[in-house]
Amino acid sequence: MKIVKVSAIPMSAPVPEEKRHRTDLGTKVKSDATLIRVETDDGLTGIGAALGTPPIVAAIVEHELAAECVDEDPMFSERIYEKMYNGSRSRPALERGITQADESRRRGVIMEAIAGIDIAVWDVKAQVLGISLYQALGATRSSVRGYASGGWAPGDEAETELAGYAEKGFTAAKMRVVGRDGFSISNCVRRVKAARRGLGPNVELMIDAHGSLEVATAIKLAKELEPYDIAWFEEPVSPDDHAGQAEVRRSTTIPIASGEREFTRFDFQDLLERRALDIAQPDVARAGGMTEIRRIAALTSAHGVRLAPHAWGSGVLFAASIHVAMAAPNCHILEVSQGYMPMMWELFNEPFDIRLDGMVHAPDRPGLGFTLRPDALERFRYVDGPNTSSSGIMLTAKTLPYVGVAGWRARRRILGVIEHIPIRNRDHRSALGSFRTREANLTAWRLAEKQWPNCRVTPAVNRRPAKAQNCPTAIRSRQREGLTQSGGYNLFVLTSWKADPGPHVISKLAARCGSDQHHCRCR
Ligand SMILES: [Mg+2]
Repeated sequence: MKIVKVSAIPMSAPVPEEKRHRTDLGTKVKSDATLIRVETDDGLTGIGAALGTPPIVAAIVEHELAAECVDEDPMFSERIYEKMYNGSRSRPALERGITQADESRRRGVIMEAIAGIDIAVWDVKAQVLGISLYQALGATRSSVRGYASGGWAPGDEAETELAGYAEKGFTAAKMRVVGRDGFSISNCVRRVKAARRGLGPNVELMIDAHGSLEVATAIKLAKELEPYDIAWFEEPVSPDDHAGQAEVRRSTTIPIASGEREFTRFDFQDLLERRALDIAQPDVARAGGMTEIRRIAALTSAHGVRLAPHAWGSGVLFAASIHVAMAAPNCHILEVSQGYMPMMWELFNEPFDIRLDGMVHAPDRPGLGFTLRPDALERFRYVDGPNTSSSGIMLTAKTLPYVGVAGWRARRRILGVIEHIPIRNRDHRSALGSFRTREANLTAWRLAEKQWPNCRVTPAVNRRPAKAQNCPTAIRSRQREGLTQSGGYNLFVLTSWKADPGPHVISKLAARCGSDQHHCRCR
């Protein structure tokens, strides 16, 4: 049996405007994936999927990687992976037993394309054997605990959001350190407290910082969160700072997890040598497909590190992650996205088997075990352009009321009000109060420009109602700050974006401003 064709099909699932919201990762306008197909001369087709920009992945598959696979026997999956990884040096690499990676294939989009093909090769291989893919890999289990991965709600709303995950039956749930209301340590602690209330004491709670914190802040946050029984702290610092992550790990009793942005076993080797993690989270579509993730699972187990595969994207990648979780002995839990992802849930004829006790069950059909719906390629036709916009503000219940006030006062086209300037973290009112000093104003300005580089930030004077200014709390606050002034304070108003934030955002702001959309339109 031989592989006769390898092809790549870009796909997209646009996010409807009413479902778009800004997080620390930007505003997601669509989800992309590249479907990979590996066809054999006896009529079998394996499917895989790749991360990375779809047209680039497709070009890499067509111009570079397909040639490494055609005429190869899909049962020789290790050989095919090594051919793709080593490129023109694959023959001496395999003869000598030394990897001699092609310089461009070790990481990045090419490795993501290699991973996508590898998944499809394993699908074919398991189909030939007539068994499920996880059994072809070497099965450890046929079901695994799933955890609900979401948790973007601002402030105390985290309680309801996380309680919803527990109601679905999940025995573990993950929330984002940076919520839709931005980040400060006190706000994160408040959200985690709320989440713990929502989950109760018996559901595991994990937090994910998306690599957004510097070491000192990550350590401080970890210390503050230790009383809330956190099962792991994910990507506390940049994935490029393995030493920093090790420093965070040494400073806290909370287990440290990372790995979704690492490529191949060599990246994990560095994390392990630095003793930087307790839980490894390779993404099968980034780390190197089934072939390489098996090696990563073995490597991490030798260091007493557990596996919790990262699973985010299309249904193909979730299906592949299920098989990884069933095969790797040191896997204890699998990510189940709670984000808006129709390409995950509506791609296949067969539904995923996630039960009311939060357990994810493996399919018992041959290969990957899932077939594309007849209209899948038409429905998820590729949409050109980037999938995430950096424009927009984090709209929250706390932001919007102030938009109206500031918009009316400033009499200009208001697009948002910066909040969560971490000068005073106790609550929104005290943060606004602190703007009365010149120093605080300058700090707020600098932070705002750093946080929203695409926006022009303009100060706008506003006045609190006299009652609020003269309440005992406000007077005590002024006395503490050594202020005698009881006048207005400044709000910082975003007045322009470089990119259009979209009509949904504009109409929300307009509604709050009591204005029509014309007055709130982006310049
Ligand atoms: Mg993550």
